[in-house]
Amino acid sequence: MSRQAAERREDLVALYREVRGCTLCPLQETRTQAVFGNGNADADLMLVGEAPGFHEDAQGVPFVGRAGQLLDELLAEQGLSRSDVFVTNVLKSRPPDNRDPQPDEIQTCRPYLERQIELIEPRVICTLGNFATKLLSGSPRGITQVHGTAQERELGGRGVRLYPLFHPAAALRTPRVKEQLREDFARLPGLLAMALPPPAGGPPPRASGREGAESVAESLGRTADGQDRPEPESSGRDQLGLFG
Ligand code: URA
Repeated sequence: MSRQAAERREDLVALYREVRGCTLCPLQETRTQAVFGNGNADADLMLVGEAPGFHEDAQGVPFVGRAGQLLDELLAEQGLSRSDVFVTNVLKSRPPDNRDPQPDEIQTCRPYLERQIELIEPRVICTLGNFATKLLSGSPRGITQVHGTAQERELGGRGVRLYPLFHPAAALRTPRVKEQLREDFARLPGLLAMALPPPAGGPPPRASGREGAESVAESLGRTADGQDRPEPESSGRDQLGLFG
C-alpha cells in the first residue's frame, strides 16, 4: 500500500472512533451503536444509503438486512464484493422506527460523509435512493428522474462520478424497480473504467490501480459479517486492530 493510502486509512480509523462516540444529535439516545460504514478504505466505488435499520443498528455494519443481501447479489453480478467497495449511509445512527432522516440530522451527520469521501477518494459514488442522491447531487431532483445516469461532481476536493440508483429496499417492494436497479448496476464496470472527471483546480487524479488495499472491516477489527475480530494476545493495541 502506498504511504499516502496508509495515511488516509489511519485518518479514516480516527474518524471511525469519532463517529462511534458521536453525541451531536438526539439519535445517539435511541441507537444501539453508530454505524460508520465498512469495506475497502481505498475503494474506487463507494455506495451511500440512507440510514442504518434494525439489523445494522444491532450489528454495527451497514446493509446487513434484506436490502443488504440484494445489494450483495447485485454487486456479485458485476464481479464485485463488499471487500472491493466501501458502503456507508447518510446518517450514521438509526432513526427510531426507521423513520425518514430529518433535515437537521442530515446536516449534523453530513461532515462525516464528506470526510469519508475525502479520505477514501472513490472514483464512483452510487447514491442509493432519494436522501443520498439529493444530498450529494445538491439537486432536488428525485431518484425516479435521475437514476442510471452518472453526474460529474466535485466531492471531497476531487472530481468524482455520482451514480444515483434506486434504493435496494424499494427494489424489494417493486419488481419493476428491481429490474431497473439491476440494469443500472450493469453499467457500473464501464463507469469504473472511465477516466476521472477533471478536478476543479485541485490536484491531478491518481491512477486507479490500488494494489494491496486492506478492508476497513479488517482494519477496524471486525470481520466482514460484523463480528468483532479477536485481538492478537500479544498486540497490546486497542480494539480497532491497528496491528497491520
Ligand atoms: N437501508 C439503508 O439505507 N442503509 C442500511 O444500512 C440498511 C438499510
